[in-house]
Formats: sequence, C-alpha cells, structure tokens
Amino acid sequence: MGDQDLSTELAGQGYQLTGRHSAVKLCYWTRQSLVEGRDCYKGRFYGIESHRCVQMSPAIDSCNLHCRFCWRSQGWENDEMMTEYDDPEALLDRSIDAQLRMLSGFKGDPAVTLERWEAAQSPRHIAISLTGEPTLYPKMNRFLELCHARGITTFLVTNGTNPDGLRALDPLPTQLYISVTAPNEEVFRRLTLPTDPHAWSRLRESLEILRHLRTRRVVRHTLVRGWNLGWVEQYAELDGLARPDFIEPKGYVYMGRSRQRLGRDHVPEHSEISGFAHQLAGRTGYEVLDESRESKVLLLGHQDVERYLPGRAPLRVGG
Ligand code: SF4
Repeated sequence: MGDQDLSTELAGQGYQLTGRHSAVKLCYWTRQSLVEGRDCYKGRFYGIESHRCVQMSPAIDSCNLHCRFCWRSQGWENDEMMTEYDDPEALLDRSIDAQLRMLSGFKGDPAVTLERWEAAQSPRHIAISLTGEPTLYPKMNRFLELCHARGITTFLVTNGTNPDGLRALDPLPTQLYISVTAPNEEVFRRLTLPTDPHAWSRLRESLEILRHLRTRRVVRHTLVRGWNLGWVEQYAELDGLARPDFIEPKGYVYMGRSRQRLGRDHVPEHSEISGFAHQLAGRTGYEVLDESRESKVLLLGHQDVERYLPGRAPLRVGG
C-alpha cells in the first residue's frame, strides 16, 4: 500500500494526519467523557481524564509486527522509519491543533457541560498508542520532554521488540507499557507474524530493561480466546523478568481491521479474563486491585498502591 493509499485509508477512518508519519485520532472514550462524563479504564485505574487525552502515533506506517488482533489497518511496509522525521515541537503543536479541531463539533452540544468543554481545550494527557511502533520514532525523547514541559503526561505503549529504542528513552514517559501478547515464541510467531526473526528474544530483552526503569511500568496481556489465553505459568515467568508496577490482563475486542483476521468467538468473556488474572496473581505474588468489566480488563499490583494510586484502597475480589 503506497503512502497516498495509506493516508487516504487512515483519513477515511477518522485519523488526522499531523506529519509525514504521524497522526491523531479522537478516542471513543474522549467522546464518552465529554458527552457522558465516563472515562476509559485508565481513568479508573490511573486517573486519566479522557476528555483531555490526545491519542496519537508518530509511526503510522511503521511496525515490525502484524498482530492478528490489531484494530488498525496494517498498511506498513516498513519495520523501520524510512523517512524524514517530523519535528517533535511541530508534531506536538499539530497534534493538539488536530485534537481541538476534532472536538470543535462538540461545542454547543447540550450534553456537553461548558466546564468539560473548556477543560478539553487544554489537553493534559497524550497516549502514544494509536498505531505502529512508536519507539521507532528517533525524536521521541524531545517529544516527551516537550510534553512534560507543558504539564502533559504521557503513556507510551510499545510491543517490546525494540530494546535499543527502549534503552534510549530519556526522559521516560509518565507510564510505560510493554504489550506481552504471547506466553512463548511459538504462539508469538503465530499470533503476531513478526518480520524480525529475533523479535521474541528482543521482547524478553525489553522486559529485563523495563525492570530497571524509573517510571510507572505496566505489562499488558491482550488475550485472544483460542490463541494466547492460558499458559498462566509462562506469562508469570515473563512478568517476573520485568517485575512491573502493574499488570493488565485484558480481553481482545472484536473491532476495526481485526475483524478481517479473527472472529467473534475469539473474544473472551470477562469471567475468562478474571480467571486468568487471579491465577496470574497467584503465580506472581501480585494482587487484584481493580477491574473494569466494560473494558474486560483487570489491574494487578501490590499492597503499596498508596505509592502509585494515592487514596485508593486495594479492591478485594467480591469486596
Ligand atoms: S488513555 Fe487511551 S483509551 Fe483512555 S482516553 Fe486516552 S487514548 Fe482513549
């Protein structure tokens, strides 16, 4: 798929292009938060205000995996960035401008309070998770620096197959996610179709790196029934490499382009994710702190949540 085709395809899906290889897309939860005051599960777990969150990517056509469960169109031909890189300052400005443009349609909507509307005009959070592999963007450090200098928190989600990119992060994002979507190399190859034969060993290397990084660190397991749901012991071993602050077992959602690759029967019930999460907690020594049934996700962490989630008592199962 050529650049023009990909841009047209993405624009057709509501992406706003903000550079040669970057884009923003209004998140479903940003709308929900504006109109209904309901935040995404990261609002519940970590205090994100979804109406002030910008969902973006600096790598819309670059990834080294082809995950079957990925919502996005995988038009990327590149597992590295083959272009002139977007300037990080211009990228941040254009990302916020694009967000405000997409929000303009909500002004005057009777369901949107003036207070929420006004707050949304100054984004306080950037989710670097829209599509592609963001650590492939070589100017990420400056981008993060600029965000933090403007009082904007950053969540960066990486597939973990670029340990050098991870090691080079400075400053670190406010919260750093590694997606661990397979218990072993065989399942990994079948589910994510990596272009790099060393992708699995690189993922393990990234988990080791994550253990030593001084920021809030999360491992997320996106679970697809019939593909990677199970093998709790092997996931526990991988989580043990990283010893993250939090673990998020999360159910696959049947949407976007993933519907061309998977079926509804691959969508686990919340109870299946909950069963997996409690077993994983038992194997890792983590506790189940919270859950969002709507997003089919649970939060595993430690007693000393106070350090990370001020004012939040740990949620006991059935409590
Ligand atoms: S954190 Fe993610 S899900 Fe939540 S509002 Fe931002 S982009 Fe959407």
